[in-house]
Formats: sequence, C-alpha cells, structure tokens
Amino acid sequence: MKVIVTGGAGFIGSHVVDAYVAAGHKVVVIDDLSTGNRKNINKKAKFYKADITDAALMDRIFKKERPEAVNHHAAFISVVESVKNPSGALTTNIMGTLNVLVAFGRHKSGKGKFIFSSTGGAMYNNPKKFPASEAEKLDPMSPYGLSKKIDELLIEYYSGVFGFNYTVFRYANVYGPRQNPMGEAGVVAIFTGLMKKGKQPIIFGNGKKTRDYVYVGDVAKANLLALKNSRSNGKHMNIGTGVETKDIEVFDAVASAVKYKDKPNFAPVRPGEIYRMSLNASLAKRILGWAPKTEFRKGIAKTVKEIAY
Ligand code: NAD
Repeated sequence: MKVIVTGGAGFIGSHVVDAYVAAGHKVVVIDDLSTGNRKNINKKAKFYKADITDAALMDRIFKKERPEAVNHHAAFISVVESVKNPSGALTTNIMGTLNVLVAFGRHKSGKGKFIFSSTGGAMYNNPKKFPASEAEKLDPMSPYGLSKKIDELLIEYYSGVFGFNYTVFRYANVYGPRQNPMGEAGVVAIFTGLMKKGKQPIIFGNGKKTRDYVYVGDVAKANLLALKNSRSNGKHMNIGTGVETKDIEVFDAVASAVKYKDKPNFAPVRPGEIYRMSLNASLAKRILGWAPKTEFRKGIAKTVKEIAY
C-alpha cells in the first residue's frame, strides 16, 4: 500500500514508518521537523518537510501522492505545554488534523484508511475502573487532551463525508528509543538523559503518581496490524499494558539501567497532569490480536542503550 505518515520524523511515527517499510509498503513522510529529527526518517521513505497547518500545501502533497492510507502522528505533543500555549496546541492538533483529513478525503486512492494516534492517558480523567476501558467518559484535563477528543469527532465526521475507513488508537505513555523528552511520556527520556550526565532528575508529585508505559515497538505493531484489518474500522481502541507504574519505579528502573546512584528531587505536580492511569487494551486484543510484548525493565534497558545525549 502507499501510506502517508505524518510525524514520521518523530519518535513513534518513525517506528511506524520502519514497520511499514519492513512490511513492503511505500511510505511518504510529512513532518515539519519541529520536534522530529531528519535522522529518524527511514531511508526508503519519501520525505516532505511541511507543516500540517498549511491547508493548501497539504492539498498539493496529497494530490500529488494519492495515498491509499494515512497514519497521522504529527501533533503538538506536550500536555504541560498545551496548558501554557493552548492556541499552539489547538491550532496544530485540530486545524492540522482537519487539513490532513480533508486533503486525504479529496485525493485518496480507493476506499482509503485513516489511522490516528489519540491519547488514553490524557483522555479519561479519574476513571471509574482501572485499568480504564474505552467505555470511560472522555473528560480531558488539558488543552492537549481536549484537542485529541475533538480530533476523534472530526475523524468520525470526515470519514462519513468522504467514505474512508478509520481506526483511532488511544495510547498510554509510549516510551523507547528516539523518544523526544518533550512528549507526554518524555519522563523515561528525560530521566535517562539527566542521569547519563550525572544530573539529578525531578519527580513532580510524591513519586506515587502512576502511568501505563507501553513500548514503542509494540505500538508500531498495532499500527501495522490496523492498516489492513477491516475489523478495526470505526474502532477507538486503547493501546497500553494495563499496568500502573509509579514515577519512583520509573526512576529506579532507569537508575539501575544506567547505574545512577543519587536520589530524585521532588516538586509540586504541574497543571494538566492526572494522578493515576492505566489502560485496558482488551478491545485491541479482540479486534487486532494485539498485545504488548515488551516487559517494562527490558524496554527500559533497550531505551537507555539507544538514547544518546
Ligand atoms: P514526536 O514529537 O516525536 O512526534 C511528533 C512529530 O510531529 C514530530 O516529528 C514533529 O516534528 C511533527 N510535527 C509537529 N507539528 C507538526 C506540524 N505542524 N506539521 C508537521 N509535522 C509536525 O512525539 P511522539 O511522542 O512520537 O508523538 C506522536 C503522536 O502520538 C502525537 O500525535 C502524540 O500526540 C501521540 N501520542 C503520544 C504519546 C506518547 O506517549 N509519546 C501518547 C499518546 C499519544
């Protein structure tokens, strides 16, 4: 298939590109390199340095490429920064997504499939049950989470207008090699970078805040499975491990992997951050046969080895 991957120079997007290329698909990357890096782009992919908020430019690229599928990973990615700069977050995440949807709808080849990287971690605030399932109320606590909720509605609407299929993934905290320290789950990359330099990391909160950490290779696999799986059409699916890992446990895991001996610093929790999260991914298991394969400490070992500072 010919697939456009937006954000394909970024952390998760570049792993998705690699998985698509390895499976024999023709990949075109769109990325403005704002947080991504040219070095991450697979050599076999065609690359456009372009901003998704430029509607005319998106129209031109899609008209030229006529893809059968789009995997949309380009975004303003920071929860905390989105509180400080809501207009930046909403412009990239809502207008950018709108432009990609409309350009794809107008110029797709065949029926078309749109795959989207939403969030579970910033979408279900205070779930009734842990791990949170897709049935939990969508109640984002940050402009970032809100933008992803609106994106999901835009995708439903425009898939109807243009008749393409779609799959939405709601990721937990993704971690792994090539991670950008700015992101939702940047903590692994931030801790790794600081500890490797012998600097003391800060934990926001008391160390007991939890997140669900899913390895990027497992996330790329879900994106590969969804490309051709018709049962995933119209589905909004969590991608996570169901395991809650405390901030202090992340600190300990990274510290032991890089042999860092010092203690963390503690500071107050930042606005927009939730206290607990884990995602139930049994729907993805049923629909795609997807399950996380990489155990946390093994994933951390691979990550610290490859994150170079
Ligand atoms: P990333 O910053 O590495 O990737 C985002 C990419 O998008 C970058 O390469 C960046 O240069 C590009 N980009 C940003 N704005 C753009 C624009 N206006 N035009 C074109 N390209 C632009 O971050 P990531 O962690 O790989 O995130 C990828 C996607 O996954 C995002 O949509 C993010 O919201 C989503 N997500 C990530 C996590 C996580 O834990 N990392 C969790 C949930 C959802």
